[in-house]
Amino acid sequence: MDVPVCESRDKRGDGMILAVASGKGGTGKTTVSVNLARMFDSAVQLLDCDVEEPNAHLFLKGTPRGEEIVAIPVPQVDESLCDGCGECGRFCEFHAIVSYGTVPLVFPEMCHGCGGCAMVCPKKAIREVDNRIGIVQTTQAENITLIQGRLDIGVAMSPPLIRAVKARLLKAVPAILDAPPGTSCPVIATLRGADFVVLVTEPTPFGLHDLKLAVDMVRELRIPFGVVVNRVGIGDDRVHVFCGNEKIPILLEIPDDRRIAEAYSRGELIVEALPEYRAHFERLREAVLERTSTVLRGLAGVSARFAAPSTSAGPTVDSRRMKTDADL
Ligand code: SF4
Ligand code: SF4
Repeated sequence: MDVPVCESRDKRGDGMILAVASGKGGTGKTTVSVNLARMFDSAVQLLDCDVEEPNAHLFLKGTPRGEEIVAIPVPQVDESLCDGCGECGRFCEFHAIVSYGTVPLVFPEMCHGCGGCAMVCPKKAIREVDNRIGIVQTTQAENITLIQGRLDIGVAMSPPLIRAVKARLLKAVPAILDAPPGTSCPVIATLRGADFVVLVTEPTPFGLHDLKLAVDMVRELRIPFGVVVNRVGIGDDRVHVFCGNEKIPILLEIPDDRRIAEAYSRGELIVEALPEYRAHFERLREAVLERTSTVLRGLAGVSARFAAPSTSAGPTVDSRRMKTDADL
């Protein structure tokens, strides 16, 4: 009955959240993200979650839509109420508040803003004040809404800003998340809640090493994924052999083409500077839409089963958590 609606929805990718990640920097993650975003005919969101070094804006010239300051709540101690009991310091696993039988010292740069110290303080001596960590900027580049976070200089914790970027995501519109490089907390903060992950790598021993780490990460998070191999022609075939042995789909191979590097250095999109590559990225778009629509249908199926309990949730999706606001 609702097949025509689903088909159109699948082609646009409504509700899809795709993350583009890589085990190390410099593999072409942003190149894949921005060129993939350009291949969408209708509205699409590109979230630059690489908040320590956002660079998607270099390739998408558009109109600024706004800028918001992001702050997290950090503790401030009222010395007149504090008796130096030390409960706050014992609670804080980040050592962001420390007391040695005295009024505690607060280290805002280490505080995660959890509010726990204020909750455990028996004297109600702690109140929370805002501590700025960065900004979120929105730019409209034709049909692409670019939302990027920019961490303030000297701020060490990016996950709260990444969550602020993701909080701006409109759930009805397809979204591409450009993750930070690596496999640490900021990447996890980006990938959490994604329907599908594209892992970008290079066919080199270093590329393979970091790809294996990234594969372990997304498997741990139970998110379906595929691989894009960039700069094919350099290195060797070990990445391809690994993907074959692990049954990991290779969604796209981008050749080692000097013209791509030149276009990148000029801040140009590959699909515009070198139109012969449009077909490559169109295939990638179709591949991720096909895979994410399968995942979303699976989740809808689980949702329906939750509404009408059944004993079978299906092998593909039953171990995957339902997406919630907290995940995003
Ligand atoms: S828990 Fe409250 S009263 Fe105890 S040391 Fe911390 S701020 Fe002071
Ligand atoms: S708010 Fe949380 S992270 Fe920050 S000092 Fe208090 S307990 Fe530590």
